[in-house]
Amino acid sequence: MLDEKEVSLIVEQVLKNVLSGQKADNSTKQSLMGVFDTMEEALAATKKAYAEYKGFSIEQREAIITEIRKITRENARKLAEMGVKETGMGRVDHKEIKHYLVADKTPGTEDLKTTAWSGDKGLTLIEMSPFGIIGAITPSTNPSETVLCNSMGMLAAGNAVVFGPHPGAINTSNFAVDLVNKAIVKAGGPQNLVSSVYKASMDATAVLMKDKDIKLMVATGGPGVVKTLLSSGKKAIGAGAGNPPVIVDDTADIKKAAKDIIDGCTFDNNLPCIAEKEVIAFKSITDELVYYMQQNGAYLINAEQVEKLVKVVLTEKEELQGKGCTDRPRRVLMLNKKWVGKDAKLFLKEIGIDVGDEIRCIICITDESHPFVQEELMMPILPIVKVDDIDEAVEVAVRCEHGNRHSAHMHSKNIDNLSKFAKAIGTTIFVKNAPSYAGIGVGSEGYTTFTIAGPTGEGLTSAKTFTRQRRCVLVDGLSIR
Ligand code: NAD
Repeated sequence: MLDEKEVSLIVEQVLKNVLSGQKADNSTKQSLMGVFDTMEEALAATKKAYAEYKGFSIEQREAIITEIRKITRENARKLAEMGVKETGMGRVDHKEIKHYLVADKTPGTEDLKTTAWSGDKGLTLIEMSPFGIIGAITPSTNPSETVLCNSMGMLAAGNAVVFGPHPGAINTSNFAVDLVNKAIVKAGGPQNLVSSVYKASMDATAVLMKDKDIKLMVATGGPGVVKTLLSSGKKAIGAGAGNPPVIVDDTADIKKAAKDIIDGCTFDNNLPCIAEKEVIAFKSITDELVYYMQQNGAYLINAEQVEKLVKVVLTEKEELQGKGCTDRPRRVLMLNKKWVGKDAKLFLKEIGIDVGDEIRCIICITDESHPFVQEELMMPILPIVKVDDIDEAVEVAVRCEHGNRHSAHMHSKNIDNLSKFAKAIGTTIFVKNAPSYAGIGVGSEGYTTFTIAGPTGEGLTSAKTFTRQRRCVLVDGLSIR
C-alpha cells in the first residue's frame, strides 16, 4: 500500500517527464503499476490478475470501485494539469471538473441488474456476467478521464482491462492506470488487473486485437480507430466522432440559450465530442442571440477574418478519388491538429486581434457548407447558420451531424419543434435548453461516461454495457408464489 508521500513522489516524477517531454525513464517505469514495455507483457500480467479476480464477490468489486473514486478525487487537479501539459489541449479547471464527474457519477456494481421470470414452471434468470479481459483504446482529448471511467465500469462488471492509450497522452493515461492499480491493491485486489504499455503504437493495438483471451474491444476516438476495431473480428463497442449541431428557434429564452451554448461550447475548449460545434438559428432571433453570446465571452469575427482563420486551423491536402491512378486527386481540408483545444484568444492573436482571457469563444455567421460547420474542429470556434423556420433548421442540422448519431442540442419551448428535431436527428444524446455537458450528467440527472457508443448502439456506456447476458433456468422449483 502506498502512503501519501510515495504517491506525491511518483506524481512529481511523472510530471517532470511530461514537462520535459521525455519518455518515461526506467525509474518511472518501475513506479507505474500495470504499465509494461510490451503489449505481450501487459497481457500476460493482466491474465494472471484476472484469474484471481474471477473469484471476487460483488462486494469486493464495489470496494475496489470505492477506492478508485477516492484516488480519482485526490488526483483530479494533478491529472488535469498533466493532461493539459502533455497534450497541449484543453483547460485545467475544466479537466479537473471532468475528473470529479468521473469519481462521483460513474456507475459501479449497482448498475448490474438481474431479470427474473417466476411462475408455474419454475424460475428463469438473466444475469449480467463479465466478458473477461477487455482491450480498450483511449483518446487524447479525455485521456485519464477515459482510463478511469472505463476501468470503473469494466471492473464493476467483473472484467479486467488492457489499455491502448493515445500516443499523444501516454504519460497521463499511464499515470491513471497506475492510480487504478494502486486503488485495486489497496482494496485487496490483484495488481495489474488494469494494464497498459509505455509506448503506444498501432502494432501494440494489433497485438491486443489478435489475442485470443481478449473477448471484447472498446474504442473511444475518431472514425479510424472505430473502423479498425469493428473490423477486428471480435465483439467491439465503438464510441466515435460527433459534430453536434444546436438549434435555437424563436420560442427559446434567447438570453439563456446564448449563455448555455457558450458555456457548453467552451467547456475544455470544445474538446468533448458532445460539445456544440455549430449553431442553427432562426433568422428572426440571430441578432439577439449574437448580442447575448457577446455578453458571455464570445467575440464576433467578420467574413474576412473568418477566411484568415480558416487558413490557420485547416490545411489542404490532395486525396485520390478512386483506385485508378488516372483519377484526378481532389483537394480535401484537414484539421491543423496543433490548434485543437487551444484558448480562443490564441486564435484571435494569430489573425491580428488582441483580447484578454474574458474572451472564451469565437463566433461567426457562415453558410451551411462552410468548413467550420462541416468539420469537427474541437476548438472554441462556433459558426452560426441562419435559417427561416423549423423545417429548414432540422434539415440543415441533420446534414451537419453527418449521421454520426452522436449528440445534438436545442433551445426551444415548442414541444412540436423539439420532438421533430429529436426524431429526425436520431442521436444518442439530445439536450434541451441546457449546455451540452448536461448530456453527461453535469448539472443534470443521470450518470456519466466518457465513452458514448453511437455507432454500435450501446449509448452512454456503464458497467452493464461491459457484460454478457446469461440465462439460468430451473424448471418446477424455486418459485414461491
Ligand atoms: P484518435 O482517433 O486520433 O485516437 C483515438 C485512439 O485510437 C488513440 O489511442 C489512437 O492511438 C488510436 N487509433 C487511431 N487510429 C487508429 C487505428 N487506425 N487503429 C488503431 N488505433 C487507432 O482520437 P483523438 O484525437 O484522441 O480523439 C478525438 C476524437 O475522438 C474525436 O473525433 C472525438 O469526437 C472522438 N471521441 C469520441 C468519444 C465518444 O465517447 N464517442 C469520446 C472522446 C472522443
